[in-house]
Amino acid sequence: MRTLVWFRGKDLRVADHAPLAEAAAAGEAIPLFVLDPYFFAPERAREIPHRIQYLLESLAELARSIEKLGSRLVVVRGKSTEVVPELARELEVDRVVGYRWTEPIGKERDRRVTKALAEIPFDLYDGETLATPGGLLTGSGAPFAVFTAYARAFARTVEVEAPRRAPRSLPPLPKLPRRLGAREVAVPSPEDLGVTPNPRVVRGGEAAARARLRAFLRGPGPRYDVGRDLMGEAGTSRVSQDLKFGTLSARTVWRHAEEALAEHPKARRAYLNELVWREFAYDVLEHRPEVLTEPFKRAWRRFPWREDEAGWRAWVEGTTGYPVVDASARQLLTEGFVHNRARMISASFLAKHLLVDFRRGEEHFMRFLTDGDWASNDLGWQWSTGCGVDAQPWFRVFNPVLQGEKFDARGDYVRRWLPELASLGDRWIHQPWEAPEAELARAGVALGETYARPIVDHAFARQRFLAAVKGHLG
Ligand SMILES: Cc1cc2nc3c(=O)[nH]c(=O)nc-3n(C[C@H](O)[C@H](O)[C@H](O)COP(=O)(O)OP(=O)(O)OC[C@H]3O[C@@H](n4cnc5c(N)ncnc54)[C@H](O)[C@@H]3O)c2cc1C
Repeated sequence: MRTLVWFRGKDLRVADHAPLAEAAAAGEAIPLFVLDPYFFAPERAREIPHRIQYLLESLAELARSIEKLGSRLVVVRGKSTEVVPELARELEVDRVVGYRWTEPIGKERDRRVTKALAEIPFDLYDGETLATPGGLLTGSGAPFAVFTAYARAFARTVEVEAPRRAPRSLPPLPKLPRRLGAREVAVPSPEDLGVTPNPRVVRGGEAAARARLRAFLRGPGPRYDVGRDLMGEAGTSRVSQDLKFGTLSARTVWRHAEEALAEHPKARRAYLNELVWREFAYDVLEHRPEVLTEPFKRAWRRFPWREDEAGWRAWVEGTTGYPVVDASARQLLTEGFVHNRARMISASFLAKHLLVDFRRGEEHFMRFLTDGDWASNDLGWQWSTGCGVDAQPWFRVFNPVLQGEKFDARGDYVRRWLPELASLGDRWIHQPWEAPEAELARAGVALGETYARPIVDHAFARQRFLAAVKGHLG
């Protein structure tokens, strides 16, 4: 049996990789990665610099790991819908295998590949998530739209199996036709694709991902239930990009956390619950792929969003005058990550305070987040806006000052990302415009010069949003 094992960018590992392990056990396995211009054309890659950097680093490590196991990752350029069927024929494989994607673009690609492969079987494995997306239904057979109900069904029915170890060795690559050898390319560097590497983006690859998980479970893990919301602390696991690109499998993260946090039941419950949110996001995307372009709640379609270029720019650049919102904007651009609590505050601010269409913010996050993931990002944005599944009720409008005071009490998060406010006392750090003149002078803050004044008043913005929703929803 000769199998083409198609790595597709969300499974960049050798451990717990069922398609690879089964292909190797069944005979000859040819590991393949296709540099599809959809993502890897320089003009596309430059649009998603942090994800590309992480992905290429992970891909280079995957190629090295496969080589150490005795085989080689074949890397070719081209449209995967054409390249994969061509190679499958040239290499005379018996089947093609890979992990299933839930995203509509992945499904469309796979539909075309299946058609072009014709008589050659194309077997897609579940495994990007713990539960098959779309596999859990309510008692009446409907998709879940409420997280707690989904999580209960998940707990009742999903048995998370132990992850497989990496294979000890892989069968050597069969001799490839000369024509194919000529098409093979090396894993490109970010610079090859016009992306300047950003040293603050987390390291890619399986080894770094495992180290991050281990460090979390041995470090802040046992306090996760408390620490997860504190924006100034490193209290979360930072493995979201590893799950997104599959340098860690979902069950590896689940099972390691389950075991390591066994004596800290509150932290364990809280952590596993977040992993179930990820499951839920994929379930929603499976049932309602249109959420990537439309609000989940139909009543929100044609909502009267405002055109506010000045507000949008301030939100993107971190000059809204609300420190937590600005800190999150700068964190995103600087290191391709934003703390979850800050994501919620920032998303809420754009959609509710500024009344800018949440989809613009969603797209901006997808551009710069290293963990940018269609399912989780969309769920997060629609939740924060109030138009998604199990949404934050639309009439609850986060007050960025109170949120800051509660979840960044000493202002560490703000000070880290807004050095111009670093010397301001704790009492004013989340509302510099209320600080007495003497305090501003002492801290070297000149409002409107070194740091922005608020671009909109909170009470006014809240009323404006509530009126807009009432007017629209009736
Ligand atoms: C507006 C908005 C946009 C978001 N965009 C993304 C995104 O593009 N990609 C992404 O992976 N997450 C996204 N999230 C969810 C969450 O913010 C990140 O997963 C989390 O901050 C990643 O940090 P961590 O790995 O330290 O998380 P931890 O707190 O350590 O959580 C562990 C893992 O659970 C999963 N998880 C945690 N919270 C959520 C959640 N609310 N929804 C889905 N999965 C979750 C992630 O895989 C995460 O790595 C978004 C949330 C919001 C509010």
